[in-house]
Amino acid sequence: MFKALLINKTDDTGYRCALTELDEAQLPASGDVTVRVDWSTLNYKDGLAITGKSPVVRSFPLVPGIDFAGTVTASEHPRWKAGDRVILNGFGVGESHWGGLAQMARVKGDWLVALPAGLSAREAMAIGTAGYTAMLCVMALQKHWAEAGVKPGSGEVLVTGANGGVGSIAIALLAGLGHTVVASTGRLGETDFLKSLGAAEVIDRGTLSAAGKPLQKERWIGVVDSVGSHTLANACASTRYGGAVAACGLAQGMDLPASVAPFILRGVTLYGIDSVMAPLARREAAWAQLASGLDRSKLAAITHEIGLEAAMGAASDILAGQVRGRLVVNVNA
Ligand code: NDP
Repeated sequence: MFKALLINKTDDTGYRCALTELDEAQLPASGDVTVRVDWSTLNYKDGLAITGKSPVVRSFPLVPGIDFAGTVTASEHPRWKAGDRVILNGFGVGESHWGGLAQMARVKGDWLVALPAGLSAREAMAIGTAGYTAMLCVMALQKHWAEAGVKPGSGEVLVTGANGGVGSIAIALLAGLGHTVVASTGRLGETDFLKSLGAAEVIDRGTLSAAGKPLQKERWIGVVDSVGSHTLANACASTRYGGAVAACGLAQGMDLPASVAPFILRGVTLYGIDSVMAPLARREAAWAQLASGLDRSKLAAITHEIGLEAAMGAASDILAGQVRGRLVVNVNA
């Protein structure tokens, strides 16, 4: 038997998430690798799944948790054997396939990435899907800048949703690469914290969140945006000639009330970043760069540890934008 969060939806109880005990025999038969989960995390999407605020869960009953790090206990997959340390992100896990907010999981071996040398399972989940997505955003900008001949320090990079999981790790990564980072936040009280992560300047997100002009003063050589809506439109409108914006989130909204002006008049490039179905080679590159390039003391500063049961309460907090940094879940607490 093992402990897990389980989401169910019935006519009698409605939509409900509870801490429960499950039998290993109940794990999804469609998986070919069984993993003892060491650490999981709580992401924005997990908040949606646990509370039912948005229909991310597509089959019931379901164990939530879009990511985990753990140790293989049994495998029918040629790439994995018992004892291998692995990471899982995305592929619909925690949405349509049982996920990582549990002490055991069974998933497809094709979805797994080896835990990179030098990274502990706890650190991997402190990074989690949010940090891995931040890395995918930074990689898109790095590739763009390399082609455009942009050097670190030659301009400012904007990070929106700065106190969130994606935002805080993006700040640490970009600052670590030598970029001048401007952090946009609704929580100016966290200015010292954001500067400790490497932000050179902290701005009020209110300056970006309302409808703005199609073209604004050129400021950013690059943007990591986890917010969407007017914020993303304004970020594009104030990106410098030839600069790039990596868009991965929708914390403000899914809409994009923008014009084509920045793209056709300033050659701005908008990169869409998806972590869920990203190909294996890009995942491995992202995790390798995280293992080598992310300052561990900054990671420790943004990490808060909770247990499985507390993850249910924290789900509402993350949706309310009250979580700072990353929540790592000790499933064995
Ligand atoms: P968090 O909840 O940790 O952070 C989101 C941050 O956005 C908040 O901390 C807050 O930052 C800011 N924010 C919240 N509400 C608003 C608002 N109404 N207007 C402007 N800013 C707001 O979430 P994550 O960092 O984990 O995820 C961020 C986004 O990225 C989510 O939309 C998530 O779904 C998406 N995502 C997408 C992935 C992909 O594959 N494309 C993968 C992972 C996440 P502050 O308080 O500093 O203003």
